[in-house]
Amino acid sequence: MTAPLLEVRGLTKRFGGVLALDGFDLTLPEGQIRGLIGPNGAGKSTLFNVVTGALPPDGGEIRLAGRPVNGLRPHALVRLGMVRTFQKIHPFRGMSVLESAMVGCHAASRAGLLSAVLRPPRAAREEARIRERASLALEFVGLGAREAEPAEALPLGLQRLLQLACALATGARLLLLDEAASGLTTPETERLAELLLAVRTRGKTIVLVEHDMSLVMRVSDLVTVLNFGRKLAEASPAEVRRHPEVIRAYLGGGGRGAGG
Ligand code: ADP
Ligand code: MG
Repeated sequence: MTAPLLEVRGLTKRFGGVLALDGFDLTLPEGQIRGLIGPNGAGKSTLFNVVTGALPPDGGEIRLAGRPVNGLRPHALVRLGMVRTFQKIHPFRGMSVLESAMVGCHAASRAGLLSAVLRPPRAAREEARIRERASLALEFVGLGAREAEPAEALPLGLQRLLQLACALATGARLLLLDEAASGLTTPETERLAELLLAVRTRGKTIVLVEHDMSLVMRVSDLVTVLNFGRKLAEASPAEVRRHPEVIRAYLGGGGRGAGG
């Protein structure tokens, strides 16, 4: 039996008096799209921050493909195949679309700064390979024709796609996408849904944090519901829609529940 791609046991994270994660468990097999939903403040972004090594947990265990990864830094985890995007978009100032996607690859590259200095020919080959990977990722998300444009000049919808391209360009097999469709128009969200399904077809695994329920329900194989840092439910999209506690905590309540 192979280990799940990501396994989280008893994950706990405290901010002062707030228990953002309260003994959270997650088992994620390879090749799935997992929807992760829950009200604002439920702990979704904190989960990403802790799992990707941006913040240390106060308790619990994280395994990537069976390997304990507690304490590893984000760049090390990117090299091991896990990458995340951010709820807030921070375009790289002064960089082109292509350069931005290349920065994503550099994080995953074995040729660090030192080898770039000491082994110029190898570093040049690495650079060419990174450029190629970044280009392919941009083409995949439909930004191929805009490589030379300044990244910060792209409209929000295309910035989101650039974020996805940056993550894909690392070659990671596990993508954690935080509010991936936030700010997108309906046609842009539709396009994102198709891209996510195409990413899954390529064998990658996605955790999708998203408030747009129709997107989550359409692409997810399984949906995990977080509330107060705990797992409230985990089921198929159809079952989650009917789950009484989920409706009470999140989907119902008229209006604000699924809002941003
Ligand atoms: P979600 O992404 O589900 O909306 P978050 O993970 O951002 O929720 O937040 C979970 C809880 O942790 C909230 O109460 C939030 O205010 C708190 N929190 C998150 N990050 C921090 C932080 N860096 N410092 C203090 N409190 C935080
Ligand atoms: Mg969040």
